[in-house]
Amino acid sequence: MANNDAIRVLNDKCTGCTLCVKVCPFGAITMEEKKAVINLMKCTVCGACVEICKFKAIVIQKKDEEKIDFSHHKDVWVFSEQKKGQVQSISFELLGKGRELADKLGARLCAVLLGDKIEDKAKDLIARGADKVYLVNSPKLHVYQDEPYTKVLVELIKKYKPEVVLCGATVIGRSLISRVAVKIGAGLTADCTGLDIDPDEKLLLQTRPAFGGNIMATIISPNTRPQMATVRHKVMAEAEPDAKRKGVIIKEEFPEDVYTSRSILIDVVEEIEATINIAEADIIVSGGRGLREKENFDIIRELALALNGAVGASRSAVDADWIPYSHQVGQTGKTVCPKLYIACGISGQIQHLIGMKSSDVIVAINKDPDAPIFSVATYGIVGDLFKVVPKLTQYFK
Ligand SMILES: Cc1cc2nc3c(=O)[nH]c(=O)nc-3n(C[C@H](O)[C@H](O)[C@H](O)COP(=O)(O)OP(=O)(O)OC[C@H]3O[C@@H](n4cnc5c(N)ncnc54)[C@H](O)[C@@H]3O)c2cc1C
Repeated sequence: MANNDAIRVLNDKCTGCTLCVKVCPFGAITMEEKKAVINLMKCTVCGACVEICKFKAIVIQKKDEEKIDFSHHKDVWVFSEQKKGQVQSISFELLGKGRELADKLGARLCAVLLGDKIEDKAKDLIARGADKVYLVNSPKLHVYQDEPYTKVLVELIKKYKPEVVLCGATVIGRSLISRVAVKIGAGLTADCTGLDIDPDEKLLLQTRPAFGGNIMATIISPNTRPQMATVRHKVMAEAEPDAKRKGVIIKEEFPEDVYTSRSILIDVVEEIEATINIAEADIIVSGGRGLREKENFDIIRELALALNGAVGASRSAVDADWIPYSHQVGQTGKTVCPKLYIACGISGQIQHLIGMKSSDVIVAINKDPDAPIFSVATYGIVGDLFKVVPKLTQYFK
């Protein structure tokens, strides 16, 4: 039998209750002297007996799990996303959290920077907390493309064996890191909103909303390395720059085939909605189903204009086609963290709150005094938005 040491009975825990005998679909368990005995020729290690046993007297231990030695995996890595040579703010957020994780693990914090003519950005990453920067500079990495970026990152991971790899849950980050995880066979938790280290096991605790945002699940990847996670933009504080910090820059080069891609990049078209970019806005005025119809979104736009802010929306407003998806705030939209968030006619369901509750000041306008949005609001206005919002616009104008 292939799994001859994978399943066993713990005699000191077995009470001879015979539940396992009854549940075994293969007739592989008998009782001998009031203890369960597993016939390993018949057992398929289906686990039915393990589940039924109230006394935890039957255990399955995977052979390969026993043998895995991760001691050569060290360091916390942050993939430092850049666009047009500018390191994106998500990278600084990850360096802030990465520093904390690395300190808890007693490891170094390393940044990975890929691009073209980006050498001078490496020192910014050191100033933000990186002890080391792995720099791959090549004209072939000028613009993000899945294949070359994936191959380069995979090569670096294979060579230096990090313990943890963090990446922004951005369009680029999501595309890149899932490919990397598949190639190296590592576990990956997408869209995390919290990260920590288990003090006993030294594992990365990866927290993210699950079951439609109704619970927060904490996920671990105990059987593979590196432990990989993407993290939402604006949920973690940026590491503050310190120009006096010292670090090491390691320049890497790879053979031509690492940079090749099966797809040809013809052109890069700027996103039309880029002007809105609610993820970066300091002031956001958001509208929800309380607006009743598409045309009424104009009162939200007018207030946003008066405040020089951006326009956000609940999913209900987006689903009703009152405003494009790029404005959606929440679990399946964008996470925002402005200085001021004004929610108008938004009830405040958990999926919306996840995307905006860390805003500095939240003002909620809702005619229902029991609306859940008031539980996160700094200031609440119970009233009709069609009366309150125009008055605010007039005042701020
Ligand atoms: C998997 C999943 C993901 C989701 N992702 C998101 C997400 O990313 N973002 C998101 O927003 N939602 C998301 N949702 C949907 C979410 O659960 C809610 O359905 C949605 O946020 C409700 O939008 P709303 O508050 O605009 O509408 P409603 O819940 O209908 O609330 C409308 C509010 O307007 C108030 N109102 C009505 N008239 C007025 C008035 N004249 N003046 C003042 N107040 C008024 C009402 O009192 C009410 O509180 C998701 C749901 C699921 C299941």
